[in-house]
Amino acid sequence: MSTTGKVTGIVSNLVTVAVDGPVAENELCYITLGGSRLLAEVIKVNGDKASVQVFESTRGLKNGDNVEFLGKMLEVTLGPGLLSGIYDGLQNNLTTMEGVFLKRGEYTDPLDHAASWEFTPIAKPGDKVVAADWLGEVKEGWLPHKIMVPFSFAGEYTVKEVAPAGNYTIDKTIAVLTNADGEDVPVTMIQKWPVKVAVKGYREKPRPAKIMETGVRVIDSFNPIAEGGTGFIPGPFGCGKTVLQHAIAKQGDADVIVMAACGERANEVVEIFTEFPELIDPHTGRHLMERTTIICNTSNMPVAAREASVYTAMTICEYYRAMGLKCLLLADSTSRWAQALREMSNRMEELPGQDAFPVDLSAIISNFYARAGMVVLNNGQTGAVTFIGTVSPAGGNLKEPVTESTKKAARCFYALEQSRADQKRYPAVNPIDSYSKYLEYPEIQEYLDTTIQKGWVDKVLKAKNIVRRGREMADQINILGDDGVPMSYHEAFWKSELVDFAFLQQDAFDNIDALCPMERQKYMLDCILDICERSFEFENFEECRTFFKDLINTLRQMNYTEFQSPKFHEYEQKLKIQLS
Ligand code: ADP
Ligand code: MG
Repeated sequence: MSTTGKVTGIVSNLVTVAVDGPVAENELCYITLGGSRLLAEVIKVNGDKASVQVFESTRGLKNGDNVEFLGKMLEVTLGPGLLSGIYDGLQNNLTTMEGVFLKRGEYTDPLDHAASWEFTPIAKPGDKVVAADWLGEVKEGWLPHKIMVPFSFAGEYTVKEVAPAGNYTIDKTIAVLTNADGEDVPVTMIQKWPVKVAVKGYREKPRPAKIMETGVRVIDSFNPIAEGGTGFIPGPFGCGKTVLQHAIAKQGDADVIVMAACGERANEVVEIFTEFPELIDPHTGRHLMERTTIICNTSNMPVAAREASVYTAMTICEYYRAMGLKCLLLADSTSRWAQALREMSNRMEELPGQDAFPVDLSAIISNFYARAGMVVLNNGQTGAVTFIGTVSPAGGNLKEPVTESTKKAARCFYALEQSRADQKRYPAVNPIDSYSKYLEYPEIQEYLDTTIQKGWVDKVLKAKNIVRRGREMADQINILGDDGVPMSYHEAFWKSELVDFAFLQQDAFDNIDALCPMERQKYMLDCILDICERSFEFENFEECRTFFKDLINTLRQMNYTEFQSPKFHEYEQKLKIQLS
């Protein structure tokens, strides 16, 4: 018999329950409310008292109401058909329901049980298999979706039979496996996995050794993110976090994209609903949605649902990674998730940490980021989950706990700066404070040396130095005045402006500028560094300013589009005459 209980206290979404048997942390329960049932999750157990967070509004709930524990954790349903789906944190399918909000106590099925999938077997009778090994494949869009031995299967199994090639629905048995005790277990195309437990089933998780191209210059050239790497984008409201993440989603070199949208405002999520299905994948010319899953929650949904959504999104990514695919997980914004943790912790009257966040905030964030990564599967193939989250620190204060904790966990830091956004220098990524730890990895350096150019990292550091020196010069010029500093200061300042305007700034809404392939990035940086390495000996600072302003204008006018076309070479000739 399963454990039951009675409600003894209600503080918003936190409900205390007197239980009549054993319950475990993270276990799910249903609270009966009139004719419907509200789903909730145990967050703390203390003797015969359990604190549960309800995933919905608790309006109308009262002491003495009945609770039934389910003996299982919050799970995500995995199978073909997840792509192009839009779900909430509990994996309710938001595309099949009417209206934007579900009725309370209503839960929908995440997958289509009527759809039929063209199955091709991979495993053969007699094969020895373990969890996550591939049994067969169906085409989901144009992606090969592997049907795997369920992640929950422990130990080794022998394949007894695999269904022949043909069309099957997800509930049909497509393989029978025999376990060590000689028992036969049927396997279908769907499986379930608890969202808070990382999916294993791979041989090893080595350090990332490759770059994931995004087409955004300030990322790819200046602070590249690795395939299977982690990064985060902190920035005050309105500085371009969402625009940057959408650019990465659109252009990032990944097979599968999962967006966890914990919206700042309700209409932001509505924007995703309307915008995302319109987006065209620049790599294939097809709808981006075909290889995207969106998990969304608005800030007006109960806090617990927001927490669930980031875990659900991560688990879906891990599922596709086990198929040998490159997955990109984007969460906007993780601050909403942290606030959810804070609200629950405060309601439970736990000892608060800094700014009233839970004391283990750092550990929770680190554990989550640690689920990303590149893996080598049992069959030797690789898969990756690259994770980029945004953080919206109140008042742009980068010393607040969520930013600080995330900084410890993520390897790339893309700091969006209010002053750059105010000047419309987009993307407003601060070129000095931002960093990518991957540039220090010997594996990554070697990768860049061989795929882009030998000594590429040195070149990037050179460009960064030009920008850094330019900032120092700007300070000096501001203090001492235009005439109070040597000519070389002006020259250094304008060289940094050249790097900034012609290379770092990039218009996310321009058809061509938005996506800058690595080859073009290299060409542009070479050209700009070539100019920066010259010394010009201007007569006066006006001459210097006019010269560089013209140069910047010409480069920007070309909108970087024609950097490789004949027109650019014409321009290059002119530039050479201008420079000589
Ligand atoms: P946040 O998510 O940080 O609140 P948004 O991503 O919504 O901010 O960006 C706010 C506005 O800034 C956008 O609507 C857009 O006008 C502008 N913007 C941001 N990044 C760029 C960019 N790369 N190119 C052009 N405009 C941008
Ligand atoms: Mg935003």
